[in-house]
Amino acid sequence: MKLPLIAANWKMHKNRKEAREFCRAVIEGLPSRDLQHILLAPPFTCLETVVEAVAATPILVASQNCHGETHGAFTGEVSAPMLADLKVEWALLGHSERRHVFGESDELVAKRLEGALKQGLKVILCVGERLEEREAGQTEAVVARQLQPLENLRDLWQNIVLAYEPVWAIGTGRVATTEQIAQVHRFIRAAHGPIPVLYGGSVNPGNIGEIMRLPEVDGALIGGAALDSGKFQAMVAESLKAKGGSEHP
Ligand code: PEP
Repeated sequence: MKLPLIAANWKMHKNRKEAREFCRAVIEGLPSRDLQHILLAPPFTCLETVVEAVAATPILVASQNCHGETHGAFTGEVSAPMLADLKVEWALLGHSERRHVFGESDELVAKRLEGALKQGLKVILCVGERLEEREAGQTEAVVARQLQPLENLRDLWQNIVLAYEPVWAIGTGRVATTEQIAQVHRFIRAAHGPIPVLYGGSVNPGNIGEIMRLPEVDGALIGGAALDSGKFQAMVAESLKAKGGSEHP
């Protein structure tokens, strides 16, 4: 995995044809050395298609969630061994839509994190405060609480990337200021230094350069603006221009 990492979370968008077209456009449109900075998180139904479409490239593929157990009576869930069977090596965990739309608690996310890592997956763990928590001055306390499970997993930190995604900035068009981003990233770095930290929340081609120029930011997790292959390519190019490109420590 190469930093900066530019990750696309497609959420519940794209069928297999659209997924294939997106991959083809990005592979043809960017210099091949840029592809090592890309991670795609399609819906479960497109995972195999995307794995096949990017097989000859260093593009990484992630599921948008993963259960902590290997198998069992968990209707609607998929496990790390099932993802490994598709050659999917990464999973997003704790995305704010999972926490706040589907009610995944800190405890549940912690179980998923531990299970996924112990079964060999690499994980992008999303954390971030809600608007009322920020307004109550609780941002750092919330982020610290969401990162607490990392303490028991130190031997697996090399398989973790963090994503700071303030809930109020996701899908709202309201991006955090560079000061707000830098402050929380510095706070996370103080406790979990070696783990890369991405920023996510209404990132788009117009604001990504400014965000990526922050030394505290190791990449971006992008939803809405990453659905369009042209915009996504522009954001990868802009990020690499801002950072120059650097290898994972
Ligand atoms: C996301 O889904 O992680 C995200 C940051 O979405 P958006 O870029 O649309 O705010």
